[in-house]
Amino acid sequence: MSIQVELPTYSHFINGERSPASTGETFDVFNPATGEAVARVSKGTVEDVNRAVDAAHAAFEKEGWRDMPPAERAKVLFQIADAIALHKTELIYLESLTSGGTVRRIAGNDIMMIIDLFQQMAKFVQSYPFSETLPNPLFPGPAHNFVWREPIGVCAAITPWNMPLLIASWKIAPALATGNTVVLKPASHTPVSALRLAEIISAVVPAGVLNVVAGSGAEIGETLVRHPKVDKVAFTGSTEVGRGIMKQAADTIKNITLELGGKSPNILLEDADLEIALPGTLFGVFLHSGQLCESGTRLFVPRSIYDTVLEQLAALTQTLKLGNQLDENIGVGPVISQRQKETVLDYIQSGIDEGARLICGGKEAVVEGLENGYFIEPTIFADVTNDMKIAREEIFGPVLCVIPYDHIDEAIEMANDTIYGLAGGVWTRDVNKAYEVARKIKAGVIWINDWHMLRNDAPFGGYKQSGIGREMGKHSLDAYTQLKHVHTSMVPELERRVAYGLLMTEAKKSE
Ligand code: NDP
Repeated sequence: MSIQVELPTYSHFINGERSPASTGETFDVFNPATGEAVARVSKGTVEDVNRAVDAAHAAFEKEGWRDMPPAERAKVLFQIADAIALHKTELIYLESLTSGGTVRRIAGNDIMMIIDLFQQMAKFVQSYPFSETLPNPLFPGPAHNFVWREPIGVCAAITPWNMPLLIASWKIAPALATGNTVVLKPASHTPVSALRLAEIISAVVPAGVLNVVAGSGAEIGETLVRHPKVDKVAFTGSTEVGRGIMKQAADTIKNITLELGGKSPNILLEDADLEIALPGTLFGVFLHSGQLCESGTRLFVPRSIYDTVLEQLAALTQTLKLGNQLDENIGVGPVISQRQKETVLDYIQSGIDEGARLICGGKEAVVEGLENGYFIEPTIFADVTNDMKIAREEIFGPVLCVIPYDHIDEAIEMANDTIYGLAGGVWTRDVNKAYEVARKIKAGVIWINDWHMLRNDAPFGGYKQSGIGREMGKHSLDAYTQLKHVHTSMVPELERRVAYGLLMTEAKKSE
């Protein structure tokens, strides 16, 4: 006898309530550790997108939300942080179950960062210069001039599958903090935690302020990006899709923020403390099975310590525990899907074909009891050259490319020889050398003797084709506001209006 268990169903979240797709259709969401369906989610249509945008537009146009005083808005943001904290166990579970991210990481980092993010935003809005007074101008005469920062309007947020909650929060928090409304389109692999997050937040904000439509980016993404009532698009995902979004947004001249891919260089100097640099290197590349855009995927090693480093890296990699992401003793979970597994294995094969030397890993991993899961052995290639495909393209899997160098200038040249510029790092005991290298690497974040250290009060984003704009930090509020200059004349007498003389040669009052 087989027992059929009904999967939990999650609907879109539009105008403050759950809302099924216009067609009633759903799609399945899977646990990547088992390959089993774990939830059923509404499959978005163009009509659903239109309803969500209309709701967000109406919530923006209605008085109250967008012109809420900063102190009151701060209270709302603190309430959101409290609501997330209250539901954190459920959110951690849903996020881990569907994204393959380990509970160890999501509970130990992501959820705390998300709560802290909303709290930080609450503090930032209280000191944010929503209105600045300019000094009296020398010309054309006494005036009061203000610069106001106003919300942009309806913000479309499109997010990837690797850290669904955190990346959605990086968009939702500054958007709400500055009085915008949001339509979120989460990745098809991982819509569930974002849908719950929206429900949790919506208990605190007015209906329509935060909406979520799930479904295929290829099918509904373009409708959202091109929609005339969408004023801004904030996207995180691949550089390829980001390029398309930039083109689609051009027709209606939308404000855009893009957080895209990376191929970040990690440079070991000869004097690096290997006791910390080598575990740090593995942390930098194998966390979340390498599915983090800022991963340090290219390791540059001085030839003088090359063999020692390779030997120790391979030995350390053997100590990593691969398995069920829901087990808190596991450090490395599965990759997101069968397709992603095949993509990563194809890259590994291309490394072998191009002559790189495998020093560990290199194939799919079989985890006892999880034989249908999408696991890959943490893989290290030695003797990589910077022109190989594995060194040029973003793999988004657990693959480290080790590239030897003779002189630091050569390492920096190779580090920057990439279309990407998201992150970089350097390991050394010499702080002056570290800053010199940090200045020369063309990337939006540099770690010295560390990796993955993002802060809610520091900006994050890419140079070159890794993106446009910054998320996190108070700088992210700028990305969700537009500037308005307001001029008030302080000259009541017509004859003293100097500027009018540019047109009128004789000052004359109207009858
Ligand atoms: P994708 O670019 O494939 O997808 C990202 C999002 O865009 C998903 O919601 C996807 O929907 C949607 N999408 C896909 N096609 C379109 C389209 N034509 N129009 C509008 N939206 C679309 O990236 P992945 O989800 O595969 O994520 C991995 C990538 O994200 C990596 O390259 C990684 O580097 C990058 N990334 C960057 C980060 C950063 O901060 N710079 C952080 C995390 C990831 P659907 O899921 O339905 O396809």
